[in-house]
Amino acid sequence: MLGEAIIKGMAVTAKNFVGSYVSKDRLPTVQYPEERQTLSEAVRSFPFLVYDGDDWQKGLRCVSCQICEKECPPKCIYIVKSKDKKPDYLGKPQLYPAVFDIDLSVCMSCGICAEVCPFESIMMDQEFELSTTDRFGGLLVHKEQLAKSHQYHLKIRPSEAGPIERRRAQAAAKAKAAAESKATERREPASGLLPPTAGET
Ligand code: SF4
Ligand code: SF4
Repeated sequence: MLGEAIIKGMAVTAKNFVGSYVSKDRLPTVQYPEERQTLSEAVRSFPFLVYDGDDWQKGLRCVSCQICEKECPPKCIYIVKSKDKKPDYLGKPQLYPAVFDIDLSVCMSCGICAEVCPFESIMMDQEFELSTTDRFGGLLVHKEQLAKSHQYHLKIRPSEAGPIERRRAQAAAKAKAAAESKATERREPASGLLPPTAGET
């Protein structure tokens, strides 16, 4: 019938229009900023740096390998390696970024930095309310602004962060057990080396 598709389309529109007065599910918009939609895990805005524990400086996972800096297509990451080292989550000494800046006015949210990082240190955030009147300084973010806890990562992206957390917790427990067994060996010499008892002399 001529115009059948138009009539069907209008019927759907009318159903949603009337339905939006009685059912929230039929409302495609929200009263932003008073109301917020729950974001899907797949939403990504700009990168952030993950840290373990409570102290971002001690717990920063980044080892300053600069892979993300090299791979970033528009070259908006700037890193300067530290001269000294700090212990990582396994207690091994690691380099850290003395400077880690990202120019968000250039970042295109591609997520390549997060994909190439071998240390699970840089992840994509969901924070998007970053507008500023300071076009240059306001959008050049430093490591102290980029650092966010591993719990935050777990909250916004549980299916990505969950396996990472489990793997790191297992590695940390293994390293702790190995260190404890080494310390015990040092305290108790091997039985063959024990000094002879009084009856044996
Ligand atoms: S998201 Fe893409 S453009 Fe932005 S810093 Fe990472 S690699 Fe660079
Ligand atoms: S964020 Fe990852 S890839 Fe980038 S410098 Fe740090 S450890 Fe290397």
